[in-house]
Amino acid sequence: NTAIDTQIKILVIAEHNELELNDSVFKVISAAKSWNGEVDLLVMGKNTEEVAKNAAKIKDIKSVIRLDGDHLEHLLAEDATKIVEMLSNNYQVILAAHSWSSRNFLPRVAAVLNVSLITDVLKIESNNVYTRAIYAGNVHAKIQSKDPIQLLTIHTSLFEGCSRDGGDAKIIKKDTPPAMNLTSWKSEKINKSDRPALIDAKIVISGGRSLGSEENFDKVLSPLVDEVGAALGATRAAVDAGYAPNEIQVGQTGVVVAPELYMAVGVSGANQHVYGMKDSRVVVAINNDPDATIFQFADYGLVADLF
Ligand code: FAD
Repeated sequence: NTAIDTQIKILVIAEHNELELNDSVFKVISAAKSWNGEVDLLVMGKNTEEVAKNAAKIKDIKSVIRLDGDHLEHLLAEDATKIVEMLSNNYQVILAAHSWSSRNFLPRVAAVLNVSLITDVLKIESNNVYTRAIYAGNVHAKIQSKDPIQLLTIHTSLFEGCSRDGGDAKIIKKDTPPAMNLTSWKSEKINKSDRPALIDAKIVISGGRSLGSEENFDKVLSPLVDEVGAALGATRAAVDAGYAPNEIQVGQTGVVVAPELYMAVGVSGANQHVYGMKDSRVVVAINNDPDATIFQFADYGLVADLF
């Protein structure tokens, strides 16, 4: 319980659904505590009153900074960047989960602030030294940043979430800068599913190219997925072949998951896939090739025909 260093100010950028914070936010706050400074949470959106109220209960933060605006309903990179830029003078560290959202706007923030963006940090070694994965996780690089603002995204599956209550942070409402109007939001198509979301499912079952067709992908995997209440995942090869939708791709260029149980069905275990699932607690692999790489990562392996 060392005293907080009030000279060090850290800003965590939150993702939320206007009611609750994403699970990843609590993990980023844990990571932010590594600096032993004062942590503020930035909540931006169309209507953030409720989510800011909930966020203020987090013990490990000092204030919740909230900015509302109709144009923040579908957060565009230019608008998010403007807000972070506006606040950046007060902070030495700015961080967020390594997610689709942060990957969309933090490169722009880095350019505007003229600092490096250090992505997908696995471990915070000291105030400006980090371990991150390169070559799809084959090499762990330790890097030091001398930038005046440390800007990073966190590999959240390696961090425990902080406590969600016990605190009474101050909520500070700031004026929202007007819309940049460089791009505009047109529409979005969301595939609704009764299954748990891939990102925080307790069980994930992924299929590979070997399933052979979109029909097989569904016919073979869905009964098992629904029986155990799992989320469905896929390799990029399966997605590229059109057997599975893009948003369920697990891996370096897809979603990174760390469930209690991960089942890889007809998956070879390419680096780029393994990058997205290797932090899973228990891994089960089914593959008819006894030499398949995936068995090196599996706790239980079945050398068998997946059909
Ligand atoms: P394959 O490698 O073709 O493997 C199929 C496996 O199924 C084999 O091991 C085979 O033995 C087994 N099999 C065949 N028939 C049966 C059967 N009847 N029963 C049981 N087993 C059977 N990949 C990802 O998954 N996610 C990513 O995010 C990703 N990002 C990438 C980024 C880059 C820059 C690049 C270059 C590649 C990326 N890839 C990614 C692709 C990756 O390199 C592999 O090509 C891909 O993961 C392979 O998918 P797969 O295991 O389905 O197919």
